[in-house]
Amino acid sequence: MKLILLGPPGAGKGTQAKRLQERYGIVQISTGDMLRAEVAAGSPIGKEAKAVMEAGKLVSDDTLVRMLASRLDQPDAANGFILDGFPRTLPQAQALDRMLAEKGLKLDAVVELKVDDEALVDRISGRFTCAKCGTGYHDTFKPTAKAGVCDICGATEFVRRADDNRETVGARLEAYHRQTAPIIPHYAATGVFHSVDGMADIDDVARELDAVLAGVGHGC
Ligand code: AMP
Repeated sequence: MKLILLGPPGAGKGTQAKRLQERYGIVQISTGDMLRAEVAAGSPIGKEAKAVMEAGKLVSDDTLVRMLASRLDQPDAANGFILDGFPRTLPQAQALDRMLAEKGLKLDAVVELKVDDEALVDRISGRFTCAKCGTGYHDTFKPTAKAGVCDICGATEFVRRADDNRETVGARLEAYHRQTAPIIPHYAATGVFHSVDGMADIDDVARELDAVLAGVGHGC
């Protein structure tokens, strides 16, 4: 299965992609995670991306397209993938079309998670993850059962993304509406586009996503 999850920052793409990865055995490819790894490693891409990401803007199409092309060539993407955070601009969507056509591949579904902007600021500014197992939490909506201890692995170290703050969220939402939302008509024209209500709770969104995937012949 080859799937794109679209939606503004904080819509739940990462959460749903992780769940789909486990359920369907296909790899989640998050360009945001890949860039954060480059920043942490201090690589040339990381050096280019750091300030751009902290400002809530988009890293250059050229860099992202090259990064994604080499990621799709990895063996674990051969069975399918869930793209989370890519494409984010029309040139990226067009480059992806070319990459897939060259490999003789077709997208099964492009699913938008629809969420109101007001909800996103609260969702993003309170989120944090376990530094050891990566489980996601939220100060208000999903705190750990015991303060300071991960429910899943018991670790006591947590991380917050440098760009998950109220100041940067505005710029990220602006980038989404100006640069990313315009790719929706590109996919709507292909007949693989679906939209689900991302305001519902995590399990309900997951059920809606499963129903979409069953409709395109990939249900579990
Ligand atoms: P995310 O984890 O998807 O919210 O991405 C975090 C940040 O990484 C974004 O705000 C951008 O600065 C950068 N980024 C991730 N994916 C892309 C992309 N496809 N194109 C440009 N910038 C990206």
